Amino acid sequence: MQQLSESQAMRYARQVALPGMDLDGQEKLLNAHVVIVGMGGLGCSCAQMLAAAGVGHLSLVDGDTVSRSNLSRQVLFNQAHLEQLKVCAAQTLLRALNPDLRLDVYDQFANEALLAELLGQADLLVDCTDNRAVREQINRTALAANKPWVSGGAIRMEGQVMSFVPAANAPCYGCYSQLFGDTESGCAENGVLTPLVGIIGSMQALEVIKLICGLGTIHIGKIQHIDGLAGQWRELTLPKLANCKACQPVL
Ligand SMILES: [Zn+2]
Repeated sequence: MQQLSESQAMRYARQVALPGMDLDGQEKLLNAHVVIVGMGGLGCSCAQMLAAAGVGHLSLVDGDTVSRSNLSRQVLFNQAHLEQLKVCAAQTLLRALNPDLRLDVYDQFANEALLAELLGQADLLVDCTDNRAVREQINRTALAANKPWVSGGAIRMEGQVMSFVPAANAPCYGCYSQLFGDTESGCAENGVLTPLVGIIGSMQALEVIKLICGLGTIHIGKIQHIDGLAGQWRELTLPKLANCKACQPVL
């Protein structure tokens, strides 16, 4: 277990000062390994927060390059990064933000083999994609590896966050998609208001930090949803489905 250096204790002084966090919590972050799948708007925001907050090891997965229409919401990137691989551009910026950060980048789109390899080593995963097939792969892999993951989505003027944890009574993403459906349509077709991706990516980072440090309430079996226009959060209940093909044992 790596211990905080004196300069790291100073760097994170505002977090260390928090009740329940202390040096112990900050050391848990320093020793944590988090996988971020998707370096779009959610991934940029979440990675920036986790790197700044002192998570010691991040693995970033994305095969895409930076395009002009990304710049309105993918806040790690600027004009100079156009056509560059997103994970490489993010690597440069996150290393500049926090030189202590251990950063592994995978310039490919997620697949089940890569997810299994990464989740075998990491503490948890953040889903920052807008892709149902990838979420189903993450769900299967996380259930098999017994690891938690935090899913986020932002579209139009709304967004939502869900935390999936390995617990007997906890629903999985399969329960969600059977109950609520999940479409393939993303923000390319529907649009998204820029601050929503920042809010949801930051909420994902908050849930990740709480899971790592054992802080506060983890909303197991809940969907936290924001209506950006109304400026209102609400919480929807997600039950564990008795007939879920993903999380229920085959009898
Ligand atoms: Zn399920």
